[in-house]
Amino acid sequence: DPVLRLTGISKTYNKGRENEVTVLREAELSLQAGEIVALVAPSGAGKSTLLHMAGLLDTPDAGRVEIGGVDMTGLGDRRRTVARRREVGFVYQFHHLLPEFSALENVVLPQLANGVARRAAEARAQELLDQVGVGERAGHRPSAMSGGEQQRVAFCRALANGPRILLADEPTGNLDPATSDRVFERLVTLVRETGLSALIATHNLELAARMDRVLRLDNGTVVAG
Ligand code: ADP
Ligand code: ADP
Repeated sequence: DPVLRLTGISKTYNKGRENEVTVLREAELSLQAGEIVALVAPSGAGKSTLLHMAGLLDTPDAGRVEIGGVDMTGLGDRRRTVARRREVGFVYQFHHLLPEFSALENVVLPQLANGVARRAAEARAQELLDQVGVGERAGHRPSAMSGGEQQRVAFCRALANGPRILLADEPTGNLDPATSDRVFERLVTLVRETGLSALIATHNLELAARMDRVLRLDNGTVVAG
């Protein structure tokens, strides 16, 4: 079974209004265990929308989202939130770390929300930060860190609850090219070491070419890149 399977996913925003826009048209996508897949398309093509559906942040108008072979489509809000916390990690273009908390605390908090005891959560957070080379910066607030460091902390936060899937939306899009390259390598290494699957939206074709497979969003459907 694929880790993630999307079938017949359709999404229209502003239905019935003059600014109605159909973004996804029966899009299909499967992610196998351990796979790192790029989703490439120009801005506005619907990459974020697709990631939000895959990550249970939004529900499609039609279609089915399965994670680990389980159909998530019919879940109520509460059960969907629980499933999302356990199964999915998100990384965005901007780190969205909580500014008033340390790097460590930013990785601890989602674990507390998931019912992990503080001691265990801190140990895991420190381990993750060490793994991506920011362990020594654990006590610093995001504002005291470089862009690359901030984004590496964001990776750790995404992986804090041991998700099956990592969804990343232009994860290095806010960094200069050299930093972007290094930070991207860190992300790929982390994903490989953790054995999880990743779907990474980007318009950087060079980065995309380093992934296992490239998919394109074309007029609302997913096609091989
Ligand atoms: P991408 O991530 O590829 O840039 P998006 O999924 O963000 O694409 O957006 C696809 C299209 O859907 C764009 O035209 C955007 O303006 C529109 N869109 C995205 N989110 C919303 C929303 N919440 N309400 C209305 N339109 C939206
Ligand atoms: P990297 O992705 O390797 O962190 P950066 O260019 O973001 O690449 O940073 C390189 C190193 O320089 C960082 O590991 C950090 O120690 C230091 N550094 C850069 N900018 C800052 C900053 N604003 N505050 C503190 N340290 C910084």
